[in-house]
Amino acid sequence: MDYYGSQMSKLIEQLASLPGIGGKSAQRLAFHIIHMPKEQVAQLTSAITEAREKVCYCRECFTLTDQELCPICANEQRDHKTIMVVENTRDLAAYEKTGKYEGVYHVLHGAISPMLGIGPADIKLKELMQRLQGDVNEVIIATNSSLEGETTAMYISKLIKPTGIRVSRIASGVPVGGDLEYIDEVTLLRALEGRIAL
Ligand code: ZN
Repeated sequence: MDYYGSQMSKLIEQLASLPGIGGKSAQRLAFHIIHMPKEQVAQLTSAITEAREKVCYCRECFTLTDQELCPICANEQRDHKTIMVVENTRDLAAYEKTGKYEGVYHVLHGAISPMLGIGPADIKLKELMQRLQGDVNEVIIATNSSLEGETTAMYISKLIKPTGIRVSRIASGVPVGGDLEYIDEVTLLRALEGRIAL
């Protein structure tokens, strides 16, 4: 039964297709949008369209950015010889929030998961190895402490070992299965400072 008329139903359906938004939330959001001032709706839709059009991967670290080189990679004050490997841009943001990390990043966009059929070729691993042909002192592996994160960390450390570059893993102060973005800054810093050489 179409209680709301097709336009409203279409909006609800679109919103409900987003991750983490169930039918009820979609309805609530749709009603909210319908009552928003028209110019605010225009701002929202153009923010979505523009972000989708302009946001791309940084050519160096593969984080999301709207420039060829993200602000971190473009910053000459950062230590470009220390690379922290993270699973996604949200994890990068969590470390940036601590304000204490001076190096640069490499964003994998996922983790190896045999169960989900995600292999090394499905994440930005080849790109990391290419970067390591440059002048790099240390790679800090900061993937999550989930099974996938640990599998990925092991795989990467095995790949890097023969190159002679120092490889370390953030300390296990990060709770198992914990998503990096939900961990407070103090815990993150402790994990970084207490990193273990692999
Ligand atoms: Zn970058």
